[in-house]
Amino acid sequence: MNYLIIGSGVAAIAAIEAVRSIDKLGGVTLIGEDPHGFYSRPGLAYYLTGELHDKALYPRTAEDYRRMNFRFVKGRVKSILRGQAQVEMEDGRFIPYDKLMIAVGAQAMPLQVPGADLEGVLKLDHMEDARRILKSVRRGRTAVVLGGGITALELVEGLVSRGMKVHYLLRGDRYWNNVLDEQESRIIEQRLKEEGVILQHRSEVIEITGRNNQVNGVRLLTGQTLRCDLVAYAIGILPRVELAKQAGLAVDRGILVNEYLQTNDPVIFAAGDVAQVYDPVSGRSVLDSLWVPARQQGAAAGLNMAGKKTAYIKSIPFNITRLAGITTTIIGTVGKGRDEDVLGIVRGDSETWRELPDAMVAQTGFEVNRLRLMVGEQTLLGAIVMGDQKLSFPLEKIISNHMDISPIRERLLTPGARIGEIIAEYWSGVHAQRLK
Ligand SMILES: Cc1cc2nc3c(=O)[nH]c(=O)nc-3n(C[C@H](O)[C@H](O)[C@H](O)COP(=O)(O)OP(=O)(O)OC[C@H]3O[C@@H](n4cnc5c(N)ncnc54)[C@H](O)[C@@H]3O)c2cc1C
Repeated sequence: MNYLIIGSGVAAIAAIEAVRSIDKLGGVTLIGEDPHGFYSRPGLAYYLTGELHDKALYPRTAEDYRRMNFRFVKGRVKSILRGQAQVEMEDGRFIPYDKLMIAVGAQAMPLQVPGADLEGVLKLDHMEDARRILKSVRRGRTAVVLGGGITALELVEGLVSRGMKVHYLLRGDRYWNNVLDEQESRIIEQRLKEEGVILQHRSEVIEITGRNNQVNGVRLLTGQTLRCDLVAYAIGILPRVELAKQAGLAVDRGILVNEYLQTNDPVIFAAGDVAQVYDPVSGRSVLDSLWVPARQQGAAAGLNMAGKKTAYIKSIPFNITRLAGITTTIIGTVGKGRDEDVLGIVRGDSETWRELPDAMVAQTGFEVNRLRLMVGEQTLLGAIVMGDQKLSFPLEKIISNHMDISPIRERLLTPGARIGEIIAEYWSGVHAQRLK
């Protein structure tokens, strides 16, 4: 059996490991265009701030790869020729497959304003982008950051930590409107201001200006201009569906796959950021841009390519991230509405977060420690934990396991309730029960 996997991200690596757990003899080929191979993309934020050396971003060693026993082909796939069961590379080579997996990820949505192609207009998709940003930063110079969600803040933080003066321009009234609530957005914004970031709401950039092909400013809808040396943006991502589309596979926002990660061609699978995965529990097909689901999908796809029938059951989306220096955990369904700063999904994001079933909100906390719970009829549907993280693990378990919270529901919804203490008490009760 010849397995061919396109992409060298976490979904692809997990797929190879899964194939090898079943099939030790089949030929496995991985095609990847990224010259840096497989590394932690979420870790790029810490590389930008200087907290992590780039060497720390590589989760696998040469020895690991040797053990996985696959052939690596460096290059870009140009097209999938389904009739001939092979792919065509950009350099003219053809590589055959019996089973194919598409794990090509997603790319930053391009900025559609005049001047977006000038030198110094930057995004953060991969290692090369991070290096480009680091080459462009100069202490004391000025940057403008546009967009929302996690990556925009990572850009702000990276540039501030490198000594740049940063204008963070938001089109909307507050940061990450459709995931965070008003108070959470304000906590983040306050933190940014304390770090010296110049925050401007309701600011729409209509042009990036330049001199000698290099950025030197932005022009806003209001007529205001800002001088700057660099523009960084994160306005959303687009799953790389072009290969699948050209090959006639079913595509919506991502490549449509069933719960076995199989496309409408039974020998072709897709996983990770590029896949829009059918969730048999909700009956819908959903996009995530999260590291752990990409790994889990890749593993399930690998097993299925090698002949198993393993359904990928979407777990409750969960992300621990850092927003303006505040550790923030987002679990389950927490937000609603529209965010003018992002189009569709962003990095480290899940469409599920924005579903808002019937739930009431219980919240507590000020300054950087804050807890918000989405309280359903008998279960918790979502939570945001900011600052103190003692409760994020219990909450992840309570939400993922759909634990019955009826005994504490009313207390949680009592105005002024100390919901953190109630959850901690409930969790120790659950533990005590288990130990009996
Ligand atoms: C800056 C940043 C911050 C993030 N923060 C978080 C976070 O806080 N939490 C979280 O859970 N997730 C986060 N993510 C998202 C997470 O990294 C992704 O969900 C995950 O990497 C997806 O893995 P993947 O294997 O699907 O795709 P990718 O990791 O994108 O890998 C796809 C690979 O395919 C290659 N490729 C594309 N087209 C071709 C082609 N035609 N031929 C050959 N190769 C091709 C690409 O070069 C790439 O190497 C972040 C991502 C970034 C970039």
